[in-house]
Amino acid sequence: MEPQQRSPLLEVKGNIELKRPLVKVASRLPLPGSRRKRGPDQMEDALEPEKKRTRGLGTTTKIATSRPRAPVLTTVPPTQGQTAAPKVPKKTGPRCSTAVATVLKNQKPGPAVPAQKPGKGQDFLTFVSSVPILAAAAPPMVGGKKPGKRPAWDLKGQLCDLNAELKCCRERTQMLAQENQQLRDQLREAQQQATALGAERRVLEEELVRVRTQAEQGQQELGNLSARVLELEERLGTQEGLVQELQKEQLGLQEERRGLAARLEEQERRLQGSEAALLGSQAEVASLQQKTAAQEALLAERDERLHGLEMERRRLHNQLQELKGNIRVFCRVRPVLPGESTPPPGFLLFPPGPGGPSDPPTRLSLSRSDERRGTLSGAPAPTTRHDFSFDRVFPPGSGQDEVFEEISMLVQSALDGYPVCIFAYGQTGSGKTFTMEGGPGGDTQMEGLIPRALRHLFSVAQELSGQGWTYSFVASYVEIYNETVRDLLATGTRKGQAGECEIRRAGPGSEELTVTNARYVPVSCEKEVEALLHLAHQNRAVARTAQNERSSRSHSVFQLQISGEHTGRGLQCGAPLSLVDLAGSERLDPGLALGPGERERLRETQAINSSLSTLGLVIMALSNKESHVPYRNSKLTYLLQNSLGGSAKMLMFVNISPLEENVSESLNSLRFASKVRSLPIPALSGLLVVVGFSILTLCPSGQGGHSSRKDLHLPGIW
Ligand code: ADP
Ligand code: MG
Repeated sequence: MEPQQRSPLLEVKGNIELKRPLVKVASRLPLPGSRRKRGPDQMEDALEPEKKRTRGLGTTTKIATSRPRAPVLTTVPPTQGQTAAPKVPKKTGPRCSTAVATVLKNQKPGPAVPAQKPGKGQDFLTFVSSVPILAAAAPPMVGGKKPGKRPAWDLKGQLCDLNAELKCCRERTQMLAQENQQLRDQLREAQQQATALGAERRVLEEELVRVRTQAEQGQQELGNLSARVLELEERLGTQEGLVQELQKEQLGLQEERRGLAARLEEQERRLQGSEAALLGSQAEVASLQQKTAAQEALLAERDERLHGLEMERRRLHNQLQELKGNIRVFCRVRPVLPGESTPPPGFLLFPPGPGGPSDPPTRLSLSRSDERRGTLSGAPAPTTRHDFSFDRVFPPGSGQDEVFEEISMLVQSALDGYPVCIFAYGQTGSGKTFTMEGGPGGDTQMEGLIPRALRHLFSVAQELSGQGWTYSFVASYVEIYNETVRDLLATGTRKGQAGECEIRRAGPGSEELTVTNARYVPVSCEKEVEALLHLAHQNRAVARTAQNERSSRSHSVFQLQISGEHTGRGLQCGAPLSLVDLAGSERLDPGLALGPGERERLRETQAINSSLSTLGLVIMALSNKESHVPYRNSKLTYLLQNSLGGSAKMLMFVNISPLEENVSESLNSLRFASKVRSLPIPALSGLLVVVGFSILTLCPSGQGGHSSRKDLHLPGIW
């Protein structure tokens, strides 16, 4: 067993039980070295009888007898004994017998052995002194000298010596027998001990195996535990890192908490202040609530009054418009354009109105020279002056804003729920499109009636929203060419296509008209209107490439369906606002030769003239309150029938060219417009009849909680 594997139990046991006997046995058992080195001639002769007696006891006994007894009693440690013991019997054994024999034979004292041979003599003495029997048997030295050799004749002396020697040998034999017996006992005892030790060894080996197994298990467990320890250490490291982070975080949070606590305190202070202020405010609120309630009552009363006033305003506004005339005619003369020849002075005159020069002009004089009469007399051709009177005349210098100002009241009527229709009539190039849409370049000063009217509508609708009115506007823009309707707001694949649109009633029994396949676009701001006008302009340009200057040969009808609603009072109003850029009113020169192009042109002109004269007839029939109004005679009047007649307001711009060369067409236009204007205007009494029939009181069926109030029923409101 290796020292490190020896269990503490075994060590203790070995120390206590095994040490002593093992040492004792070792000291008595023959040493292998001494047995082998012993010479065959040594002690054999001298101890022959003893040898014979002890033969058969085994090697151990023999060796034990040859060994001196001195080492048995010595207390030298086994390690020393093992090294020192072989020396003693090796040299002392044979020398003892030789020395004894020599002493017995010679009986004479020799020189001191230690003095001659210190090593040998010393060994012998030590041996003799250590063996009590030999020491006692040795013959005494006379005077420190051995007895000398007996002479040959001294047979008696020799016999005596031999007897003494025999006696000594017998004693010694006896003693060796005893010793042999002791050694046998010791051997037996040693064998028993060896057996016991063998058993004990097996037990110990088993124990060792068990302990080794335990050790292996322990080792394995230790490995497992080491791994576990490593793992735990790793986890510990992680946890420690986490703990450090958490500690840092905790510090941060503590800092934050302190900050928050400070803020909380501050907030609490403020809260206290606020609460105090709140109490004051609550009292204030209570008083304000009282005031508010009173003001709400006042407001409701005022709202009621405002609504009444609004209704009154609408009624009076309409009355005013009626008084001004449901059919009005304005004349506008465009300026001479760069490159055009200036007309002679006095060609066009704008006499002041009845109220003097400060009054807006309402009259126009056009002078025309009668060349045929001049030629006949030889004198300068006399001029004929043609005077016309209109609701308003706009000389060439009049701006777009000035023109719009005059019609803004009509736009207001449209919002109030009255149909409004504005025409631009005149020969091509007289300024109709300029008046309706505006000049080129997007200059806001040049903007025409359509963008201005819509801006005005949006703005007034916004104002009226404060009184509970909600307005919506839906725009459409079509052109009528050769009695076919085309959508000017068409986009995508329908762009540029003509003749697909038809005018239909919106539904069975409905008064509302709609153009099939035309786009009706809801608009709510100027930008959207701008985009629509731009699109219409593009669509006209596409058509222009296909058919030369078709735009001037067609009627463009911009319509805006206005719908208003006062949900609080359950009131609704709605009317179309139509802005029509009519086709050029010029006549075809009857003297022109009719080629294929001219024939087409003639058909166009006839269609235009037909539709324009139908318009005149319709207006006339409406003015005369005829039972039949020939709306169906042209697509234009058919489309506009809801914008004409009844409480509708109609305004016609007659656009005039300032050029002398256009005088003929200008006169035609002026005559047409004058005819329209000279139509009988409904008398005031008639107006009162119209309005009077409408001043019926009605009680909205409990809507909005105003059942006790009586609204004026106006034509535009239902
Ligand atoms: P129409 O539509 O009657 O054929 P336009 O509106 O196209 O005529 O006008 C012809 C030309 O005269 C255009 O170049 C237009 O810009 C210009 N014009 C018309 N009226 C005015 C005006 N009041 N001020 C300035 N230029 C005008
Ligand atoms: Mg035009």
